[in-house]
Amino acid sequence: MGYFKDIYRGVSSTLTGMTLTARELVRPDHIVTIQYPKESIPVPETGRYRLHNNIDECIGCNQCANACPVSCIEIKSFKRMDKDVETVKETQKKRLWVEQFDIDMSKCMFCGLCTWPCPTECLTMTSVYDYSAYDFKEHIFKFSKLTPAEAEQKKAELEAWTAEQAALKAAAAAKKAAEAPAVKPETPAAPPAEKPAEG
Ligand code: SF4
Ligand code: SF4
Repeated sequence: MGYFKDIYRGVSSTLTGMTLTARELVRPDHIVTIQYPKESIPVPETGRYRLHNNIDECIGCNQCANACPVSCIEIKSFKRMDKDVETVKETQKKRLWVEQFDIDMSKCMFCGLCTWPCPTECLTMTSVYDYSAYDFKEHIFKFSKLTPAEAEQKKAELEAWTAEQAALKAAAAAKKAAEAPAVKPETPAAPPAEKPAEG
């Protein structure tokens, strides 16, 4: 009797397993294996992956770099001449040229703290999670659009403009001083008469 019971158990468990396999085989939404990298599993919208800076809207304020706990953002900037100041996001002024904006993603711990203080919301975390490389240097992402030659040229122009502004200011001050009416020196007041000694 035990012999037939074992046969029954064996056949029924095989049938149960095969039924499950057949059901999963025809289920269209069930992902078993995907052909990565041709296919990939969608990531959540709020996921934190590679950072991106829309440098056209970056004002170089350094707030992201200051917020980063592991110092993976490196920014270098210098002043713009008045004629080059631009407005972004309606209220934010671009008063600086950003000559360097590098993010070392090999140091990044994906905390997202750098994105919160950004006044123009140009620094965001993207859905790009696969950027493997053979060299850590390839994990340093550079966002500045200024070439070193352009930066040097703009710095030279700024220096000349600053000197010109200082000369104009000095000339205006000298003109103002020359046009001011001459002030007569005041006659010194006579010392108070000494009291005669008593007694
Ligand atoms: S996500 Fe965190 S660790 Fe990465 S750059 Fe931003 S602040 Fe730094
Ligand atoms: S906080 Fe935003 S605007 Fe300021 S330097 Fe960083 S990315 Fe640029």
